[in-house]
Amino acid sequence: MQYDLTEEQRMLQDMVRRLAKEKVEPGAIQRDKEAKFDWEMVDLLRENGLFGIDFPELYGGTDAGMLALAIAVEELSKVDAACGLLIADHELGCLPIMLGGTEEQKQRLLPTLATGEQLAAFALTEPDAGSDVARLRCRAVKDGDSYILNGKKNFITNGGVAEIITLYAVTDPEGPVRKNADVFVVEKGTPGFHVGKEEDKLGIRSSDTVELIFEDCRIPAENLLGQNGSGFQNIMKTLDFSRLGVAAQALGIAAGALEYATAYAKEREAFGKPIIRHQGIGFKLADMAMRIEAARQLLYKSCALFQEQPKDMSGLNPELIRLSAMSKCLCGDVAMWVTTEAVQVLGGYGYIREFPVERMMRDAKITQIYEGTNEIMRLVIANTL
Ligand SMILES: Cc1cc2nc3c(=O)[nH]c(=O)nc-3n(C[C@H](O)[C@H](O)[C@H](O)COP(=O)(O)OP(=O)(O)OC[C@H]3O[C@@H](n4cnc5c(N)ncnc54)[C@H](O)[C@@H]3O)c2cc1C
Repeated sequence: MQYDLTEEQRMLQDMVRRLAKEKVEPGAIQRDKEAKFDWEMVDLLRENGLFGIDFPELYGGTDAGMLALAIAVEELSKVDAACGLLIADHELGCLPIMLGGTEEQKQRLLPTLATGEQLAAFALTEPDAGSDVARLRCRAVKDGDSYILNGKKNFITNGGVAEIITLYAVTDPEGPVRKNADVFVVEKGTPGFHVGKEEDKLGIRSSDTVELIFEDCRIPAENLLGQNGSGFQNIMKTLDFSRLGVAAQALGIAAGALEYATAYAKEREAFGKPIIRHQGIGFKLADMAMRIEAARQLLYKSCALFQEQPKDMSGLNPELIRLSAMSKCLCGDVAMWVTTEAVQVLGGYGYIREFPVERMMRDAKITQIYEGTNEIMRLVIANTL
């Protein structure tokens, strides 16, 4: 296993870092204020080939792997977590197709997703259930050559802007939980598929988060991904992969906050010296740097192991499942802690919108919640011990 960055990975890191500084950072405060999805950011990522980093070359991607994807998400999230989320969430929406799709489905769907020409979203959560998958109620009923979908999904990232939704729906309500559901591809514009309420959020405010409503929505049976009854297996493996993207987003937020707070602490003076020279602040920055580096090592190691795994429906080794959960949980907790400390380092200015660290603190919170809360991550870790 190798997770020292290769020359290609360093080049990607430099490229995305420059892009983030020059093109993403300048509008980040405004995008947060307006809480409006920004297609210019999507175009920027498209132009730079960042949507297809972890897609196989066969389907138009660059096949650079999970570590490269994590590096790109990290660099973007250092300056704007909602921008980093664009590519992490796109990967999440596409993974069920990569893992469970037939050759025909992959050839039909993946090329326009690899370029980002089409965006994808992943729809699992419902108003009455998030963590507890057994309570999910969205239904898919077979009717000749079609399935008819009925139900609601909520909090769906990119749900209002994506052309392709990968949707989890129960196909056999009497069946056992792990075998009673499937993942379907639903295309934007399908009659009976509506985008509902748009959420007003604490953080990642320019990210699109919406409710999706399915009312007698008829989709072709060929949009079923994988074997009938394989939905649970598909989403669990999807999340094992995609949580590394959330971890990278969290790591980026933390690293961005440390960078800003350190520069500030070198400039700001109190009691005759830069505040970094006061041990109370220097130690804070030291602890922030230490936790970030530890989180990064865990994440990069996990990515290096994951990118060796086949993207199919075979089972993952429990150690890998544990590493993915640990990465997501540790990076999320570190991001929340580091950003809170960064606000403290800036004193009153930390609390003011003109300075980025309060936004970073608000953005960090979601990384402890989505794609499995950090309580659920601890359950997963404990279960594999
Ligand atoms: C901005 C945003 C974007 C999102 N994007 C998506 C998306 O793109 N697609 C999607 O499908 N979902 C998405 N979600 C949903 C998100 O994944 C869920 O909110 C999350 O998984 C938690 O589910 P819940 O909100 O139903 O909380 P609940 O499951 O009701 O949990 C409530 C609390 O109880 C705790 N809890 C629950 N069960 C246990 C247990 N067994 N042990 C200990 N504690 C427990 C939880 O950790 C949490 O603290 C998004 C959410 C937000 C806010």
